[in-house]
Formats: sequence, structure tokens, C-alpha cells
Amino acid sequence: MSQLLEVTDLRKEYPLQSGMLSAVMGARRVVHAVNGVSFALEEGGSLGLAGESGCGKTTTAKLILRLLRPSGGSIRFAGRDVAGLEGLDLLAYRRQVQFVFQNPYEALNPRFTILRSLLEPLIIHDIGRSLTERVERVAMALDRVHLTPVETFFPKYPHQLSGGQLQRVVIARALLVDPLLLVADEPVSMLDVSIRAGVLNLMRDLSRERKLTTIYISHDLALIRYMCSVAAVMYLGTICEIGPTAEVIEHPRHPYTQALVSAVPDPDPAQPRRPVEIADTVPTPFQLPVGCPFADRCPQVMEVCRRVRPALLPEAAGVHVACHLYPAGTREAH
Ligand code: SF4
Repeated sequence: MSQLLEVTDLRKEYPLQSGMLSAVMGARRVVHAVNGVSFALEEGGSLGLAGESGCGKTTTAKLILRLLRPSGGSIRFAGRDVAGLEGLDLLAYRRQVQFVFQNPYEALNPRFTILRSLLEPLIIHDIGRSLTERVERVAMALDRVHLTPVETFFPKYPHQLSGGQLQRVVIARALLVDPLLLVADEPVSMLDVSIRAGVLNLMRDLSRERKLTTIYISHDLALIRYMCSVAAVMYLGTICEIGPTAEVIEHPRHPYTQALVSAVPDPDPAQPRRPVEIADTVPTPFQLPVGCPFADRCPQVMEVCRRVRPALLPEAAGVHVACHLYPAGTREAH
């Protein structure tokens, strides 16, 4: 299988040049929202980006979607660097890379009917030769996400649908333009627990059926385990561990991944729980530490951690980890 997406040393910085915060901080400061993210994704692959709020996972997604312009690094999609795309080239790229938003209640124009909302991308990307053909495509898309009979949904407005139905409409809209990559940001976090599984199963089935490459962003490791073959854990704008999902979740190497995994409740009350305690002092993204960004919270911090930033290096079983506890290939020594 060939590589579809290659992200190398991706960076996004926001200068703080005015306002209260910079007045307090003094000299010109920069917020490092994404700080050197690198990964590759094969065609048909599925990557889960996990991490706490503010770790940079949504910003990474917006950079890939080119909703934001990177401050540095490269994003190669199907062998082409997309960081500098403009005009029609950018429009063509956006057809190939679609987004499912976290909040379906805000993803659709409340003044548009469902039919009009779904016709919009076909008009923007000039798909379909006539209105009849476009309406047929919309009907097929609604049918694929099991919103039937489709005609009853055409005249409805978003407020007349449930959260689960709305998210299905958003998924149908994303798939209408036949994308190669689908990015979903917390796709079920706003939905009732009772309908989450249905929406996730739908997304998984459609992705497999269409051999879609997918990126799921979530703080929910259970979701990532269910949906993704590769998992990446982000901390303070960088990837601290990445590898096959089962390996990352069942044998977490990085102390931060260990803390995340240990915080997931086990449905079996007989299983002993050993939560990994970490300090709750999070460094600010405009005062990044010189060494490991996790050093102030890490229960296994060493002297070298505060001086030298660990690189993301291959460890074992396809996992790469950024931690001085794991110099490449010597995990057993620890
Ligand atoms: Fe902890 Fe050091 Fe590893 Fe950072 S590099 S996670 S501080 S052991």
C-alpha cells in the first residue's frame, strides 16, 4: 500500500504581540501550538490522535486540512506538498480531504434544509451535471448513512433532527465529494452514549467499504482502540508515542501514555487498578521547557530529562517513543 499522507516536523506558532498577556510577559512571546509533529499514514490506514485538551491535536488536524497555514514543516499528500496551496489547487485539495466536526449542531447552517446543505458541496466542487443528478447523489448519500426514507429528510431543518441524525448528515456531506482522507474531531463526544456506538460503527463500515484513509482525534482511548490501527499520543504540541494501537494501549512505554491508559476505567471491577500518578502542573505552551516537555509531571524524571529534549525514536514492535528511558532498541534494559 502506498503512502497517502506524510507530515514532517509540522509547526504552528502564534506570536503574542499585543494585549494584556504580552504586557505581563514582557518581550515578544510565541505560543507553540504544534511543535514538530511527524508521522506518515498509508492509503486506507487509520490514525488516532490522543491527548489532553490543548495538546495540539485539533490544531494538527486543522493544519492538515489547510484551515490553518503551518509556521514550519511540511505536509505531503499523495506526494505533493500542500502547505503552500492557493486558489483552485487548494479547492481541489479540500475536496480530497474532508472533515467531520465535533459538534453536529454547529456544523450545519440552521437556515438551510438538509437537502440544501448537502447540495452545497456538490455545487462548490462542480460535481453533477444537473440539479436532478445532484439530488440523486444526495439521496444516495443519505441512504448510505441510513437516514431513510430519504425524501422525508430533504425538507427538514437541523433543529428538527436528533444529534445522532445530524451527525449522520454531517458524515453524508463529507463523503458526498468522494474524499481520500476523512478527519473526524471527537465525532461522537456531543452525542448521547446510547447512539455513539451506532455512529462509530457507521463510520467504520463506510471507511472500510470505501477504503478511506482516516484520522480520528479523541481524548477517548477506547474510541481510538476501536477505530484506529495506529495510535499517536500527543503532549504539549508533540507526539510522545506512536505505534500500532494495540501495542500503544496494552504496553504503553511513555510515562504520559501510561498515565492516560491507567486513567481509563476497566469494565471488570475484579481487575486491580494501578493509576499512574502525575503532577498536575502543565507547562504553558509559550514557555516550553528546554528538555522533555513532560519533565515537570513525570514520576520517572531524570537529570538528563531537564537538559535534553528526547527525540521520537523507534523502540520495539513498531512503536516510536520520545523518552530518555527508551534509547532506541534497548527497552529491555529498563
Ligand atoms: Fe519522563 Fe524523562 Fe521520559 Fe520525559 S524523557 S517522559 S521526563 S523519563
